[in-house]
Amino acid sequence: MRHRTYMDRSVDQDRENGGNIKVLTAIWPYLRPYLAAVLGAGIALIVAASTVLALGQGLRFMVDRGFGDGGGRVLDLALSVLLGVVVVLAMATYARFYIVSWIGERVVADIRQAVFDHVLKLSPGFFEITRTGEVLSRLTTDTTLLQVVIGSSISVALRNILLFLGGAMLLAVTSLKLTGIVFLFVPLVVAPIVLIGRIVRRRSRAAQDEVAAVSGYAEETLSAIRTVQAFTHEEVDRWRFAETVEHALDVSISRIRARAILTALVIMLVFSAVGLILWLGGRAVIAGEMSPGELSAFVFYSILVAGSVGAFSEVVADLQRAAGAAERLFELLATEPMIAPPSAPVSLPSPTEGAVRFTDLTFHYPAQKEIAALSNFNLAVAPGERVALVGPSGAGKTTVFQLLLRYYDPDIGSICLDDVDIRGADPVDVRRCIGLVSQEPTIFSANAMENIRYGRPDANDDEVRAAADAAAATEFLERLLDGFDTFLGEKGVRLSGGQRQRIAIARAILRDPAVLLLDEATSALDSESEHLVQQALERILASRTSIVIAHRLSTIRQADRIVVIDGGRIVAEGMHDRLIAEGGLYTKLAERQFDLSVDPA
Ligand code: ADP
Repeated sequence: MRHRTYMDRSVDQDRENGGNIKVLTAIWPYLRPYLAAVLGAGIALIVAASTVLALGQGLRFMVDRGFGDGGGRVLDLALSVLLGVVVVLAMATYARFYIVSWIGERVVADIRQAVFDHVLKLSPGFFEITRTGEVLSRLTTDTTLLQVVIGSSISVALRNILLFLGGAMLLAVTSLKLTGIVFLFVPLVVAPIVLIGRIVRRRSRAAQDEVAAVSGYAEETLSAIRTVQAFTHEEVDRWRFAETVEHALDVSISRIRARAILTALVIMLVFSAVGLILWLGGRAVIAGEMSPGELSAFVFYSILVAGSVGAFSEVVADLQRAAGAAERLFELLATEPMIAPPSAPVSLPSPTEGAVRFTDLTFHYPAQKEIAALSNFNLAVAPGERVALVGPSGAGKTTVFQLLLRYYDPDIGSICLDDVDIRGADPVDVRRCIGLVSQEPTIFSANAMENIRYGRPDANDDEVRAAADAAAATEFLERLLDGFDTFLGEKGVRLSGGQRQRIAIARAILRDPAVLLLDEATSALDSESEHLVQQALERILASRTSIVIAHRLSTIRQADRIVVIDGGRIVAEGMHDRLIAEGGLYTKLAERQFDLSVDPA
């Protein structure tokens, strides 16, 4: 089974897109909780639009009556009515703006959380085919686009629809004949706008993809800054980044060009039409078919109608942009995690004893279908047993961990934890029983206390300190400027390899898992660190099931059993001395990796 992601689809996206503001209806479930606010905004919108329309009637009244006999009093009256109407308009506009913007912010905050919650559930396999920067750009750029739409464009669009409909009706009441002429021009105005609007939309989508590519590239380079500098790769990166940026710029400019043409076209068409109306209406007044007040109102409404078409076409572009964003967000939300809890998960025994069994297991990585990472793999680890996995690089050792953590499911065969097939259990339950100390432990940008507490977020400070003690980490932590409160820096760059490992071990100790997975660091530690790390490991490995990807002789010698893996298969099993006596792969590995060339003892 392969992930279906928006990445796969974005290639086909433009073809699929064919004018799809409908996608925006998917926002509705997020709006529903704020129904009262939505209704309030609707009322404010209607009141505001009605008052604007009423102004035209006021204008007609004033022009026809205000300039005749007793016009002074009529003008006084008109002014006070006008002021009243304007106050209502201002209040309704305030309410509309405030409520609608509030809904926009609120809903987008909810969507951001939903997307983040969802992405956290996706299996590591998803992130192999999707760049983190891409996901980040969904969370920031795309949600911001949606915010513009929910927090303004939709209400602007609705207001303009109301103004258009109301204005058109009042036009018809004033002069049917002129209205007919006005509406002859409507298709002439609207058709080119819609056509060019579509082009704008297609280009917007491409522009967003390019921006995501830019941030993806920057993210990747910056997160590997040490590698970049070590290989003095800056020149190439600078050049490639510049290329990416320039390409994004080209795509954006092509969008802006289309948008500029669209705006110019709207202005030209709309104002020509208004000029024509004035001309025709002027003739009607001269002929006595219309009063000057009616013409004034007519022009007022024509401008409203024309303006509403113009404003609408502006926001249509926004709506279309947001439709692209919404599409990708909801696609991301619809991406099913490869590993999902079954509808009725089997619960693991509590406390878990830590018996692990791989039975007749074969597994291919989704991105590597041809070669089995593990095949016909059988391994039973008894509770409390310590197993060392040994094998050349690429043998499948890490894969054993990945499957046990249920980042992937095997193609054939099963993995049981305490006789429960983990495929039938909730992955969260499974992972709760497992502690992982990886080769390159992740240090988060927080203080030491929080970094260790990561192992068990509800642990109190004393428990954290006890874990640090057991992991031989207290001494170096206390020596830091602020002790346990010292900020460890982005990704722990201020710590040595051995120190980072001891933090990871402290985390695992705090977690107190039934099964511990340890990927020993291949990088050499200084002998002082080495000794301390070994001590710490002894404490955590004692009394629990452990599977260790071993790189050090001392670890191997203390294992209850050594399992030699090659090409995804177990090729030998046993104790160190016996395996050495057998010769074969283990002896070769031992000579190379553990420096046993002289004396295996
Ligand atoms: P080891 O830990 O023994 O060095 P791994 O378990 O990491 O080996 O890898 C076993 C095989 O699976 C290798 O051939 C490797 O290239 C492949 N592999 C590992 N991870 C992935 C992945 N995420 N996608 C595709 N192939 C992978």
